[in-house]
Amino acid sequence: MIIDLRSDTVTRPSKAMLEAMMNAEVGDDVFNEDPTVKKLEQKLADMFAHEAGLFCPSGTMTNQIAINVHTRPGDEVICDVNSHIYNYEGGGISKNSGVQAKLLQGDRGRLSLKQIQESINGDFDWLTRSTLVSLENTVNRAGGSYYQLKDIKEISAFCKSSKIKFHLDGARIFNALAETGESPKQYGELFDSVSICLSKGLGTPAGSVLVGSSSFIKEARRVRKVFGGGMRQVGIFAAAGLFALENNISRLKEDHKKAKKIEETLKKCAFVESILPVDTNIVIFNLNNSITGELFEKKLLENNIKIAAFGKQTIRMVTHMDFTEEMLDKVCSVLLNLNT
Ligand SMILES: *Cc1c(COP(=O)(O)O)cnc(C)c1O
Repeated sequence: MIIDLRSDTVTRPSKAMLEAMMNAEVGDDVFNEDPTVKKLEQKLADMFAHEAGLFCPSGTMTNQIAINVHTRPGDEVICDVNSHIYNYEGGGISKNSGVQAKLLQGDRGRLSLKQIQESINGDFDWLTRSTLVSLENTVNRAGGSYYQLKDIKEISAFCKSSKIKFHLDGARIFNALAETGESPKQYGELFDSVSICLSKGLGTPAGSVLVGSSSFIKEARRVRKVFGGGMRQVGIFAAAGLFALENNISRLKEDHKKAKKIEETLKKCAFVESILPVDTNIVIFNLNNSITGELFEKKLLENNIKIAAFGKQTIRMVTHMDFTEEMLDKVCSVLLNLNT
């Protein structure tokens, strides 16, 4: 039994999901003729209170398209220093769009209204145009923390009145909603665009959807083609997405409970220096000097447990739908009995 906690992207499609994929009605999506893709795009648009959606191969692409459509070269996007768009998209902000990032240090990845207000440039020839604010919810690099809706509402109202575009990297938005009990609509309506990943906690093999206004998505379609993301009979993947929306959202809290159990176990381990509060399905912790990150990774691998080194002494574990109770017991017992 291999236990893979490197990411929630490692899940494999279930038999039922594969069956849904096999039965998908398909067409050429670049010609806008794939009925299953259209259905998925409209379903997510409706859920998030937007007019239209766009199916893309990855969450990197949905974020990068949004940045490209919302800005002009020479503009700046305001985001947290931990954000995925800045750290894990290969410098795409500058490479794809000629835009620079203004990085703010939020509270575990969460920006406040005050911070954003203070960072917006005035309209002077010599200042960079602050045209876009991008939030991430949940925040991956900050250990799966999530926003309070009222804080996003304040930022949204400010962006609207200042004519600044507002994007949400909602790769794990359903993990946040599982905790707060709020609806996708309540979040979607506050943003100009939202990126939603289907291949994280929702367990599909690939795909993310970008939602926004009809005119925004029309432009986004153009950019998707230019970025090389126009796909053909991709209803096969959209069917997995539709299946996931039906079947895999309501179970996300189980992943969070398992992550909590790992946190509780780590608190008893002598080799742990500190643990970021576990709010959803991501556990990030620091090792003290009794063991190196490299050795820790190796020792877990000897027990068939894969984890992600997230810095020299920092470890990340992510729970997901293929991580069973039996695997959880094994991980906890290996951690408790680890000799350093
Ligand atoms: C995974 C992830 C993405 C998208 O990543 P892809 O691997 O390109 O699908 C975007 N934002 C966050 C916060 C993520 O965790």
